[in-house]
Amino acid sequence: MLDKKVSKLMVNQINKELYSSYLYLVISNYYAEEGLNGFASWFKKQAEEESEHAEKFMEYLHDNDEKVTLETIDVYKAAFKTFKDPLVLQLNHEKYVTSLINDIYAAAIEAKDYRSVNFLNWFITEQAEEEKTAQDLLKEFELFAIDTKGVFELSEKLGARRK
Ligand code: MG
Repeated sequence: MLDKKVSKLMVNQINKELYSSYLYLVISNYYAEEGLNGFASWFKKQAEEESEHAEKFMEYLHDNDEKVTLETIDVYKAAFKTFKDPLVLQLNHEKYVTSLINDIYAAAIEAKDYRSVNFLNWFITEQAEEEKTAQDLLKEFELFAIDTKGVFELSEKLGARRK
């Protein structure tokens, strides 16, 4: 049996993960419309990964006989002014998601819900990777995307991402 507070936070996290997926689709669309198909394809894969995160939480909750209620997903509406803007947004957003995962983790420990702690360990590792990926991409952009040729080459490289 899961702790009530923990399961409530997890249900909420499903919405956050789906929001992340939506956010990365917004970014993917932006790059596609700017003609940067490699960036667009990279963020589309990123969006798919986020919806898998949501599914992971749903499956865990169902495996533990908890009910999942889906809520409305917000949409990121602000316009991007430069190609770099979405990359900064991604890094900040991943740091925020890390803080949400940490909050669930802390609640699970407090409730001695060690099954959930064990489940959440995967997300702790995943968030470290997500932050690193976002940080690396931003740094790479700052270093190499100094002219249109650099932007194009980085886009080509990102387009090669498989999963
Ligand atoms: Mg995620």
